[in-house]
Amino acid sequence: MTQTARSRCIVCEQNQVEMFLDLGATTLANKFVTAEELGNREASYPLQVGFCTECAHVQLTVVVPPPEMFEHYLYISSMSDTLKQHLYHLSDCVVERLALTANDLVVDVGSNDGTLLSGFKRHGVRILGVDPAENLAALAQKVGVETLTAFFGAETSAQIAGQYGRAKAITATNVFPHIPMLADFVRGLDRLLTEDGTFILEAHYLGDLLAAGAFDTVYHEHVSYWALTPMVRLFQRFGFEVTDVERLPVHHGQLRAWVRRRGFAVSEAVDAMLQAEKNMGMDQIETFRSFARQTMQLKESLNQTVDTLLAQGKKIAGYGAPAKGSTLLSFLEIGPDRLRYIADRSPLKQGRFTPGTHIPVVATERLLEDQPDYVLLLAWNFAEEIMAQQAEYRRRGGKFIIPVPQVQIVE
Ligand SMILES: [Zn+2]
Repeated sequence: MTQTARSRCIVCEQNQVEMFLDLGATTLANKFVTAEELGNREASYPLQVGFCTECAHVQLTVVVPPPEMFEHYLYISSMSDTLKQHLYHLSDCVVERLALTANDLVVDVGSNDGTLLSGFKRHGVRILGVDPAENLAALAQKVGVETLTAFFGAETSAQIAGQYGRAKAITATNVFPHIPMLADFVRGLDRLLTEDGTFILEAHYLGDLLAAGAFDTVYHEHVSYWALTPMVRLFQRFGFEVTDVERLPVHHGQLRAWVRRRGFAVSEAVDAMLQAEKNMGMDQIETFRSFARQTMQLKESLNQTVDTLLAQGKKIAGYGAPAKGSTLLSFLEIGPDRLRYIADRSPLKQGRFTPGTHIPVVATERLLEDQPDYVLLLAWNFAEEIMAQQAEYRRRGGKFIIPVPQVQIVE
């Protein structure tokens, strides 16, 4: 095995990050290309994951500059019914737990199309979104969610605090893993949160990623793969504390953490999860080396399944064009010669092609029009929801291939 130099950890800032999984050089997972762009050269970057032997933080070893990824964004929260319900429920939970009233300000970082803040708006609290993607800010304004087009950090926070006052709650769902400059982010929290304020974050949880074999959670946007152990250490550096934590089933396993300034009561759940992480070996690099071996085996078995079906003359299409699908397709080297097209509900992706692999993305109606024999579920974490939506395709004999954690065919 080749050894590469250790890289610098984004949590503890020591040069102790050791690479354990190399998914090759890939294009950016959310950069779906238009027909006109098909002839252009796409930028690709190494996709490698490492483990910090000092603080146990799992992270990419090569980071792509965030503006490359987030200034035009095609992932929309309100597209998934499950996600929308989840975000509304989160808003209810935060309002109740923090006893928010009409004067309190809630700031959502990475506010996307305003779905979570729409949830808060029902409770009559003041809301403000922050998101660097201009195309999303426009969608959010349409549903009455004021959005600042910016990256969140110390500077943006000072600006918001000056204009709107300080926030009783700051939320960040599915964006915390995107942030390479963690110190600046936490300084931003420090400037913007009231003294008794709470930061609530949700991120995919490393423990679930390991358990599910979800290697396709790895793409350039996800700089971090969070466990509680390094998270506690990060916040401590800046005078904050994780006061409560829970695991959620959404998106195949999320961590929700409640973070406050030091000095507030800390739930027993925090220590319990830290202990559980030790028990799972999440502080040991060997755990991640074994995950990498499992990933290579999955690549082999999925390729075999697809090739066998194609040799039998079966037609295969894909369903769902999430970013994780791009990792899966490029890592497995599956292109339009094997997967004819991918059906997806998002109008922003329809008519485009998957990054790097160039498989056309079409409307979901197409599945019933041509009734392919098999549908590879790229959005496998929404398998139940999608198979329920596609009941008619199944009734006519269509089958699904669920790729992760093990290749499974559902008739
Ligand atoms: Zn570290």
